[in-house]
Amino acid sequence: MQIDRMTLENFRNYQCFSQAFSPGVNLILGENAQGKTNLLEAIYALSTGHGFRTRKEAELVRFGQNFADLQAQITGQIRQQTLRVVFFSGRRPKQLYLNDVRRKTQGELTGVLTTVLFCPEDLSMLKAGSSGRRRFVDNGLCQLRPGYASALQLYNRTLEQKSRILRDRFQNPTLLEVLPEYSQRLCQVGAVLIAYRARYLDSLGKAATEYHRAFSGGRETLEIPYRTVSTVTDPMAPTKQLEQQLLEHWQSHREAELESAQCLTGPHRDDFDGVLDGLSLKSFGSQGQTRTAAISLKLAQRQIMSRDTGEEPVLLLDDVLSELDPGRQDFVLNQIQSGQVFITCCEPGRLTKAGQTIRIAAGKLE
Ligand code: ATP
Ligand code: MG
Repeated sequence: MQIDRMTLENFRNYQCFSQAFSPGVNLILGENAQGKTNLLEAIYALSTGHGFRTRKEAELVRFGQNFADLQAQITGQIRQQTLRVVFFSGRRPKQLYLNDVRRKTQGELTGVLTTVLFCPEDLSMLKAGSSGRRRFVDNGLCQLRPGYASALQLYNRTLEQKSRILRDRFQNPTLLEVLPEYSQRLCQVGAVLIAYRARYLDSLGKAATEYHRAFSGGRETLEIPYRTVSTVTDPMAPTKQLEQQLLEHWQSHREAELESAQCLTGPHRDDFDGVLDGLSLKSFGSQGQTRTAAISLKLAQRQIMSRDTGEEPVLLLDDVLSELDPGRQDFVLNQIQSGQVFITCCEPGRLTKAGQTIRIAAGKLE
């Protein structure tokens, strides 16, 4: 899919903006604080209904104005559609329109404009604790598999209930009677989560390895092995076997769970490693390598989404070029051959052979 044109009124620092986009690369150039990231955020907001730097709709409205009006023409495989979102500065909830008809929920706009965003905060995904990596996998899977989304919801609810029992049993010891039931249920749903994650990480890993190899000029091999509960011997095994192995793990941690009053067993502690040529990225990755790997993961996510849905998500790359050597910059600017890409950059003189350059100064086209 591609955005043919986007028109903004009073969005962030844009008073009035309208621009046609290339179906390939759109390189957005400008000095610091001119509105490059804001432009990506506008695209993201049209696609998801919210900004990526704030959850507060009012912050998206240009200071001193009452509303922000965002519109875009989108061409997908089948037809051209128009999307429109209006955000208000007060408490009034946003308004959504598809083809000029008001829609009540974001769900009614699903699939019209999908995006995959890379922003500098994503770099910490590979360096920091496991929760960011789990979120990345969960988000990717939830968008593709409704069955996964409901299993995850059920898992989290059951986990919350089990945690409460472990905490509250000191005041109310009869709670211990129902504890095994919750633990077993957690193993049952947990097995479903592991089965989905193993398959997703397998496809993601294969695609990311390929992207990373091309990106690094054939020099580096990226792998993302799945780390789940230690008793699980093969995460691709049938769910019955996974459930059995989760139960074993729980049995051996029963006492420890009671002592610590915490859920110590289950896929809520899952993780995946970023491994480059056999070395952990977390401990040994250089800045450029970490950035290359993080972008490769996003490209892989996009490839899986487009294979699965038949529509290639629009790729939004905020500030990706810094810290990359010329070869890797060339990969981003000229060699991401498929679909529509938006890249922001504050170094003048950058060019793309695969699309157009858009220059921004103080919220205006230059
Ligand atoms: P950098 O190269 O530093 O990343 P940028 O071009 O990406 O810069 P943006 O993050 O897009 O810059 O922000 C540009 C400016 O937009 C900021 O100076 C900010 O004050 C301004 N801005 C943000 N929100 C609003 C708003 N609601 N109304 C008016 N201006 C805003
Ligand atoms: Mg920026």
